Amino acid sequence: MIKYVLLDVDNTLLDFNLCADESMHKAADGFGIVLPENIFEIFHEINTELWHDIEKGKLTREGLYKIRWNKIFDVAKIDLDGEVFEKFFVKNLHTSAVPVNGAMSLLEYLAPKYTLCVASNAAYDQQVSRLKKADMYKYMKHLFISEDVGAPKPSAKFFDACIAALNCPLDEVIMIGDSLSADINGAHDYGLATCFYNHAHTDIPDGICADYVVNSLDEIKSIL
Ligand SMILES: [Mg+2]
Repeated sequence: MIKYVLLDVDNTLLDFNLCADESMHKAADGFGIVLPENIFEIFHEINTELWHDIEKGKLTREGLYKIRWNKIFDVAKIDLDGEVFEKFFVKNLHTSAVPVNGAMSLLEYLAPKYTLCVASNAAYDQQVSRLKKADMYKYMKHLFISEDVGAPKPSAKFFDACIAALNCPLDEVIMIGDSLSADINGAHDYGLATCFYNHAHTDIPDGICADYVVNSLDEIKSIL
């Protein structure tokens, strides 16, 4: 029986896409530059690729901070130091907390029935600050955040730390998230139940074993 729910944060509870968009435009205003209309698409493609490298152990978060905006500015043909821009972008991101539709209502529903925990690949202080701003922090009994854990999802080391802290059998835990690689494959390979939040309505490739697939967070209430 499920007793513990591990929740991804970005694009599961908080709308990272909107937060990132807001944060990059605020940073650009500070530099007095105008970002091209397709900047978010460029950011999204490069950022996703870099986070996949982190999941595979080919890159560190610190490495990402050094190269992310330089790569983006190369493509966008913007002449600005990406490493400096990154600092302002991340600072803005710290206080940017746009909830995903239905996220608060889901937490209100789950909190009395389960022990809720954050399971996120990110910087610790940043996620705490954003969860507090969104008033979601109060629902979380444990925060498993890669910077603090010392390893990212989908590594077994990340889930080892979760299970060691929860001190429970694997079949009492479900992972809910929007990343097939980090959340769903990672948790499934470790032996946990999984729920894929398919907000982008993508086709699920062969070889992915999600126990549940939902298109909206509301649907989770009929599963848990
Ligand atoms: Mg996510």
